[in-house]
Amino acid sequence: MANIERGLMRLMRITNHPLEVVSVRDFTPLYRRIRFHSPELVDALEVSPTLWMRLWVPNERTGDVSQRGYTFVEADANAGTFDVDFVLHDEPGPAGDWAKQAEPGQQLELALTPANLSIPEDATHWVVVGDLTALPAINSLIEVAPAHVRVSAAIEDAHVDHHARLPVSSHPQLEAAWVVPAVRDHGGELAAWMRRLDVDPADLWVWGAGERGLVKAVRSVCKDVWRLDRTRHFTQAYWIKGKAGR
Ligand SMILES: Cc1cc2nc3c(=O)[nH]c(=O)nc-3n(C[C@H](O)[C@H](O)[C@H](O)COP(=O)(O)OP(=O)(O)OC[C@H]3O[C@@H](n4cnc5c(N)ncnc54)[C@H](O)[C@@H]3O)c2cc1C
Repeated sequence: MANIERGLMRLMRITNHPLEVVSVRDFTPLYRRIRFHSPELVDALEVSPTLWMRLWVPNERTGDVSQRGYTFVEADANAGTFDVDFVLHDEPGPAGDWAKQAEPGQQLELALTPANLSIPEDATHWVVVGDLTALPAINSLIEVAPAHVRVSAAIEDAHVDHHARLPVSSHPQLEAAWVVPAVRDHGGELAAWMRRLDVDPADLWVWGAGERGLVKAVRSVCKDVWRLDRTRHFTQAYWIKGKAGR
């Protein structure tokens, strides 16, 4: 059967770039960094915070490939490499399953997505939040935040034993927190953490991503509690509990 996603992307003249796995590094049993070699892609890449790709991964269920969103980490122009951090989640899914068995020499493809993030220059307090899937993007924001900006970052994750071993970028004005969710809840505790922050909404810019319910809870604090203008917050659902990605 024809792969409709790939056909549509061909019609839209979106190029697929070949990649080869160079190395695999486990920060914890749940969080794996994979380095890919793709010199032409890296050469053309304009890395910006939260930049993401559509990664094509083998799908055993369909016998074809499927695309899933992943965030660029650490592109090295000299080596022609870049990294991707994978959450090795328990539920079966083509991307998570592929990452669990990845080894050097394996080949994949990816398509680039346009960068569309706009951060207001007068925002002196960035609140950046999400779950583990958003940690790479949160790190990319921490890394570009100007020194005078206060950065409040929180990552919601239930696995308390591995937090200290996960990679969190540094910044002179960073206050970072791990938030443990309530059972079967996405975003409730994170929203409570946001509400406890000492903020002046006039200074704020908020970025949030992760499971759809979490994103809804974050958006609600931005709109209903802090009454932020649309230009002062950006949220994106990265995945949906119980539903395979597209
Ligand atoms: C812009 C963007 C950037 C992203 N960046 C990253 C990134 O850098 N690293 C990263 O790990 N993910 C990232 N994601 C999220 C990732 O694309 C999804 O988690 C994706 O659903 C994983 O695909 P899969 O094939 O493993 O599972 P799917 O086939 O999509 O889903 C199968 C099952 O697994 C569940 N599931 C999916 N993801 C998770 C999860 N994280 N935890 C628990 N259950 C899950 C689903 O609810 C479903 O029940 C990003 C998503 C987007 C849109």
